[in-house]
Amino acid sequence: MTTVAAYAAPAAKAPLERTTIERRAVGEFDVLIDIEFAGICHSDIHQAREGWGEAIFPMVPGHEIAGVVSEVGPGVTKFKVGDRVGVGCLVDSCRECANCKAGLEQHCTAGAVGTYNAVGKDGEPTYGGYSQKVVVDENFTVRIPDGLSLDVAAPLLCAGITTYSPLKHWGAGPGKKVAVIGLGGLGHMGVKIAHALGAEVTVLSQSLRKKDDGLKLGADHYYATSDPKTFEDLAGSFDLILSTVSAPLDFGAYLSLLKTGGALVNVGAPEEPIGLNLFSLIGGNKTLAGSMIGGIAETQEMLDFCAEHSLGAEIELIRADQINEAYERVLASDVRYRFVIDTATI
Ligand SMILES: [Zn+2]
Ligand SMILES: [Zn+2]
Repeated sequence: MTTVAAYAAPAAKAPLERTTIERRAVGEFDVLIDIEFAGICHSDIHQAREGWGEAIFPMVPGHEIAGVVSEVGPGVTKFKVGDRVGVGCLVDSCRECANCKAGLEQHCTAGAVGTYNAVGKDGEPTYGGYSQKVVVDENFTVRIPDGLSLDVAAPLLCAGITTYSPLKHWGAGPGKKVAVIGLGGLGHMGVKIAHALGAEVTVLSQSLRKKDDGLKLGADHYYATSDPKTFEDLAGSFDLILSTVSAPLDFGAYLSLLKTGGALVNVGAPEEPIGLNLFSLIGGNKTLAGSMIGGIAETQEMLDFCAEHSLGAEIELIRADQINEAYERVLASDVRYRFVIDTATI
C-alpha cells in the first residue's frame, strides 16, 4: 500500500479538503500512475453531493485522469515506466460478459467498476483522480499520444469519449448536418469532434453569449434556442442532434428539427422523466437514443483521433485549493470549458 495525498469530500455536500488515501500495492497487471492533471466533470459534483443517490464517503472524485506511468507489475505488457497515460470513468469490469467481449465495458452486465464512488473487486472503495497517484489495471489504462499535452488531454477521458462515441455511432461525417445542444464541457468537445469528422456543425445554445467561441471551436452556425424563430428556421434540418445538457428539454421541439430518419442522441442526464408525444418520433421515422461514455478500445481510438486532429479540451487550470470554488462556477456555467486540477498542488 502507498499513502497518497488527495482531495476528498468527507461527507455528502461537505466541501472537499486535503487528506491522504491508501492506494493498493501494484499487482501483476497493474500500472502505478503519477497523476499530473485531473479534469472536473459535472458528474463529480452530482456524486459528491449525492445528487444521483447514496454515495461512498470519503469520496475522491475525478475520472478524467492524465499522468505518467512510474511503476508496472510483472505481468504488464502494454505499458512501461515513462509512458503518458489516461484513465477515464472505469477501472474494471467482469471482462467475460457479452458487452465486455464486445468492447462495451461501460455496459458490463455484472456492473463495471467506476473510477471512484464504487467498490473494486478487492472489496475496497475506489478513489478517483483528485490525487497524486493511482493504481489501475493495464486493461483499463489508455495511452495519451505525444501530440496531446496532458492537461488538455485529461478532459477527453470523459467529455471527449462521451461525445465521440455517439457522433461516430450515428455517422457524423462529410455531408451530414449535426447539431450540438449546449456549449459546455461536453458540448465544446462535441463541436470540435463533429467538425473534425467533417460534419456541418450547428450549436443550439440558450443564448448567443458564447457564439464567438462556438464558431472558433469549429461550428458553422450558432442559434439561440430562447428565440422561438430558431425552431421555425431550422425545422427538418439535421441528420443528427447531440444533446449534452442535463436540464429538462422540450424533446418534441428538438425532434422537429430532424430530417426524416434523423436521430437525437442524449448524453445529458436530466433528473426527471420526460413527457414526449410519440408522434414526434413516428412522423418522420425518427430515433431518440442515449449513449454512455465508451469502451476502452474506443476511448483509445478517440485519443488517437484527437491527437491526429490536434483536439484538446479548452481548459482553465486550477490549484487543488480552488476545487470548491470551481464546483460553484461549474454549477453557474461559468467555465470555458473545463476546469483541470494541477495535481502537483494537492
Ligand atoms: Zn464525467
Ligand atoms: Zn462484463
